[in-house]
Amino acid sequence: MPAAPLPADEASRLAALQSYDVLDTDADKALDQIVALAADLTGNPIALVSLVDETRQWFKAGLGLPVRETPRAQAFCAHAILAPRDPLVVTDATQDARFQDNPLVTGEPGLRSYLGVPLVDSQGFALGTLCVLDQVPKTPDDRAVLLVRTLAQSVVTNLELHRALRRAEAMALTDEVTGLPNRRGIAAALEQAMQERRPATVFAIDLDHFKEANDSAGHAAGDAVLREVASRLRQSVRGSDIVGRIGGDEFAVLLMGLADRAAATEALRRISAILHKPVGYAGTSLRLGATIGAAMVPADADNAEAALRMADEAMVQAKRAGRGGVGWASRADAERVQRVAAIIRAFDADIGGATVLAGANVHLQPIVALDGAPGVVAVEALARWSHPQLGPVPPAELFPAIGPLRASRLGEAVRDQALAALAVLRASGLTTARVALNLSAAEVARADVVAHIADQVERAGLGLDAIEVEITEEVLLDRVSNRTLDQLAALRGRGARLALDDFGTGHSGLAQLLRLPLDAVKLDKRFVQRLGNDNRAEEIIRATVSLAHGLGMTVVAEGVETAQQAAMAAALGCDRAQGFLYARPMDRQALSDWLAERLPAGGDAPVPLRPRRAAG
Ligand code: C2E
Ligand code: CA
Ligand code: CA
Repeated sequence: MPAAPLPADEASRLAALQSYDVLDTDADKALDQIVALAADLTGNPIALVSLVDETRQWFKAGLGLPVRETPRAQAFCAHAILAPRDPLVVTDATQDARFQDNPLVTGEPGLRSYLGVPLVDSQGFALGTLCVLDQVPKTPDDRAVLLVRTLAQSVVTNLELHRALRRAEAMALTDEVTGLPNRRGIAAALEQAMQERRPATVFAIDLDHFKEANDSAGHAAGDAVLREVASRLRQSVRGSDIVGRIGGDEFAVLLMGLADRAAATEALRRISAILHKPVGYAGTSLRLGATIGAAMVPADADNAEAALRMADEAMVQAKRAGRGGVGWASRADAERVQRVAAIIRAFDADIGGATVLAGANVHLQPIVALDGAPGVVAVEALARWSHPQLGPVPPAELFPAIGPLRASRLGEAVRDQALAALAVLRASGLTTARVALNLSAAEVARADVVAHIADQVERAGLGLDAIEVEITEEVLLDRVSNRTLDQLAALRGRGARLALDDFGTGHSGLAQLLRLPLDAVKLDKRFVQRLGNDNRAEEIIRATVSLAHGLGMTVVAEGVETAQQAAMAAALGCDRAQGFLYARPMDRQALSDWLAERLPAGGDAPVPLRPRRAAG
């Protein structure tokens, strides 16, 4: 019995077959139906989806034959794939030199006739056949051939679809630069280990100096560093451990089954050492370093996401103690991480709820003129959000916890409420002030920020000349795009005032101020509150005022708590002030009462600088 010769493209054909990852997999309902249909409609007792592997044919689906595979040497289909375009028809196997000695013909099940259509994929590889067989000699009619051809095409489509889906899944879990699992992949692997109740040690690794390499030597150099780090990490752990890239210059290592802190600390030191050796690139040597945080499951966290965050938190703490260090997650980290997770969960539920952000509202804090002229010049809108169990979460904790996307949602809700409040206060004649709105960097970077804000303001029945926009230095950093600057300038052009918030806390310096036409700078409360104790604060304020006035900007002193601070700020030339001395941030009703109390009948009179006790 002559075995079928190998197709000319056999090596690549086998590689293609492998790429479908279909051999030895479970039954597929759709393919089972196809073989049943093929048998039924052609009147044959046997129908198979046969895949021709290196030494065997394996049946992905089959009807009427009690085996899942046969040796390739006995396979009719091994002959069929030699002519991928044509069906192979065998009318009587006992009369065909290729098959008359075949044990499947001479013995059980006594095959006589065969009709097989090659399964040709879109790259042209014949993976196997869809075939129908009988134990009696038979010549198929045209209709039978057409039917099997059509069904064979469906089989190929099914296989290709499954491969595409599997690839998409793999892609979603894989980082393209290094080929390592990405954050989702790492989280999935860790979750799996935890479900199997296997302990593991998690390292969160942050590369130092990566930005340097990327900036000075280019993206190709950056990618080379990432790949080198990936390979060093892979080589320094066992095959069963998992290495992933979870962010731009962040990696993670999962040491599976390792629950011993001493051993894990040993591994931590070893990995830290190999990440402190420079990387050779294009004849130069690029500096490398890393800071690593570690956490253990199940000891430190009860789910994968929390474990990754714990390791991350430990890394941030280690970084605070100086780059290049290592650190373990602590009890305090665990509490912080749990609190952040609880905040995010409740916040997401709030966003999804019936009333959008039911837990959010706005408080408004007056900003008053120090030169005695027109009283309350603005009210600043400040976000307030309460967790159903934890209670109010202060903005300084809330904004970093929820990240830029949710912060935008919160900001939007806060602005809506602030604008509505201002519209009411203005309509009732209580104030002519503007409302000062804080915009986060992510919000400012939106391509449609002008239209978005203008739309919000209009919906409240106000004009852009009713608002003041507060941005922090962060927005003006080197990397800010010209488009963003243009957007802000456009808002200003349409009547909004523009203020630089928290001035003096960043490093951008006064030159940065000139990148954008500003109307005001708000001196950070840390300066204001040092007035009287610290001569340097005084000098800085004096210099800032002089520069700002030179540029035609007003200066606002923030965080004014005492009469002495107010007097000194005024003496140093600050134009406006905001702080607990005048008023705390208040809800709309409280602000309305506060304003009414200070508004003598019929007048737009100056508001006294000191809080006044209610008469009687
Ligand atoms: P900020 O923009 O500098 O707001 C002023 C902060 O100083 C407010 O804190 C206010 O309550 C506080 N403050 C006012 N007067 C005094 C005082 O006399 N003494 C002291 N110690 N503090 C005073 P708050 O409301 O906790 O907000 C903190 C920060 O959170 C804000 O700082 C701002 O950066 C951010 N934030 C608040 N609401 C929003 C918002 O809706 N959107 C955005 N993007 N950020 C917001
Ligand atoms: Ca502000
Ligand atoms: Ca501020």
